[in-house]
Amino acid sequence: MWVSSIRQLVRIFRHLIPEIFCLKVLSYFCSEITQLSTIMAIKITEECINCGACEPECPNTAIYEGGREWTWAGGTALTQVQLEDGSNLDANEKQSAVSPEFYYIVSGKCTECTGFHEEPQCAAVCPVDCCVPDPDYVESKDELMAKKAWLHNESLQG
Ligand code: SF4
Ligand code: SF4
Repeated sequence: MWVSSIRQLVRIFRHLIPEIFCLKVLSYFCSEITQLSTIMAIKITEECINCGACEPECPNTAIYEGGREWTWAGGTALTQVQLEDGSNLDANEKQSAVSPEFYYIVSGKCTECTGFHEEPQCAAVCPVDCCVPDPDYVESKDELMAKKAWLHNESLQG
């Protein structure tokens, strides 16, 4: 009785193994494809050791020290920014720090280094790998190129 049940189980598993293998391969490629087509702004996690290595690497001046105020104008060509309610903000107006404690990234200025570098420079230099994709800010490559052009007053053709 036991022997026959075990034989039956072996037969079932022999049949299932290739399918399980195929599903694993498929799910691996699906996740790779998703990562390739989905681009996110970068954020800094609380693992940050405040070494400051990332700040000078940002082509958009989107990285600031914890507790420091930031501006839209810093490192960009912006003079005014239109807010959601239609009003205009002076780009030199100081904005509150996003984090009081750790270096932080202003997501509205982060382009994932699109148009400047092949990969996010903050993540490339961070010694503790705490510059990670931010799922709250998903943008396409085209949107990031448009954001770069807007930040630096460039033609999208150029
Ligand atoms: S990914 Fe590039 S643009 Fe974004 S914060 Fe890091 S260095 Fe700046
Ligand atoms: S390089 Fe990494 S650890 Fe250093 S300040 Fe930037 S985010 Fe923090």
